Amino acid sequence: MMNKWFAILLRHSGAPHGGEPAIQGQARRASIPCIPDRAPRVRNDGNVVAAMFIAAALASTGAANAQSAPPPFPPAIEASIQTTLPNMIAWRRDFHEHPELSYEEVRTARVVAQHLRALRLDEVRTGVALTGVVGVLRGGRPGPVIALRADMDALPVTEEVDLPFASRARGTYNNQQVGIMHACGHDTHVAVLMAAASVLAERRAELAGTVIFVFQPSEEGAPPGGLGGARRMLAESVFGDLRPEAIFGLHAWPQPTGTVKILSGPFMAGSDRLRISVTGRQTHGAQPHRGIDPIVAASQIVNALQTIPSRQMDAVGSPVIVTIGAIHGGVRYNIIPDRVEMEGTIRYLNPDTRDELYMRIRRTVADVAASSGATAEVSIESNAIPVVNPPEVTARARSALVRALGEGAVQGGAPGMVAEDFAYFQQAVPGVFFYYGVNPPALAAADAAPNHSPRFFVHEPAMETALRAMLAVALDWVGSDRP
Ligand SMILES: [Zn+2]
Ligand SMILES: [Zn+2]
Repeated sequence: MMNKWFAILLRHSGAPHGGEPAIQGQARRASIPCIPDRAPRVRNDGNVVAAMFIAAALASTGAANAQSAPPPFPPAIEASIQTTLPNMIAWRRDFHEHPELSYEEVRTARVVAQHLRALRLDEVRTGVALTGVVGVLRGGRPGPVIALRADMDALPVTEEVDLPFASRARGTYNNQQVGIMHACGHDTHVAVLMAAASVLAERRAELAGTVIFVFQPSEEGAPPGGLGGARRMLAESVFGDLRPEAIFGLHAWPQPTGTVKILSGPFMAGSDRLRISVTGRQTHGAQPHRGIDPIVAASQIVNALQTIPSRQMDAVGSPVIVTIGAIHGGVRYNIIPDRVEMEGTIRYLNPDTRDELYMRIRRTVADVAASSGATAEVSIESNAIPVVNPPEVTARARSALVRALGEGAVQGGAPGMVAEDFAYFQQAVPGVFFYYGVNPPALAAADAAPNHSPRFFVHEPAMETALRAMLAVALDWVGSDRP
């Protein structure tokens, strides 16, 4: 059975536009403040390798200079970019030092709103989806409406990178005291979008069209029973009366600095939270036949769920992951309990097969439980639907990125099973999501700390690539003069 996603996957999994990524020399400008005096170390456990890489990266801004610079934008825009770069880095460090959890981005939103007002945007709305901020910039000439999006929230992670602006913030998450860290790079997304707003606002007379700047709260997951930031912003008419023709978003990702990754079709997975409650009947551990053992039933369910990706769904047309991350049941070694509770995550790339996937999960759980006389309840809560980049808009965005960054900097590749709620904007507006690389030069991809790690590290010169990428796609739609 060949469906459209299958075709798209096959077409794009071959990394047709790969090639050795060019590392840009963004750090060449003396105006970017350098990280002062000491190289960051991993704080807690003497992870010497990681520390060495980070130190080498900070010392190697000179080495990056040897690489070819991206083709320049028109001189006026290039001048604006150069003026904005040091501010962008300073904003990012400020946000990094003051991270805020989902729907608590009060300070971040205040800084963003102040900035947008200082730029004299035509409209600045705050409190959209609680802590979100929306700015509207109308160009001097008629043209299309587009939107650019950045997410603002941080994670309940205790930072282990010894930066001068490392986070010491603490807060409450799930009734627990936690450290808070921008461990997913959203601090850079906010700073990059503020910088893009600076550059575009400075050139507003020449712009042909309107740009909506969307600063979104709570990307990292919806509160229990509530909506995540993207859905809530959409529910609160984030675009007002405007009808954007396209929306663009980017994400920091552990790949080489100076590169971006953009794919047409499925790019990131749908993500759901799975809860399973298995009910048996309590009995003595020595007399299992007098009850129903939910622990044995639960362990059979865990195994049976693995046949869904491997035996029940089309492995190529509908890649799926079912992970059980928590199992709770029982209080004593020789008592069979009444109940076992399990939690997990479901990931899938193909939106067209989601209902079938859910059906198979429910059926497998119910039938395996029934085989021993137990019962099981399944609840599935959607966190995000898959990020799918529509082919036409993506091809156009890719061309703009190649013009702005050079062909070697624009990578393809395979989709991944991580998730992003940017997908909901894509339901409303044709939208393109892409990654920008944040690995220091000389750091092998396999050695880079992943997003959400307490050691997640952004090589700051990478942010210039992100800014140029955002400006490239924006100016491709509303610029008077393509880069
Ligand atoms: Zn994240
Ligand atoms: Zn993220």
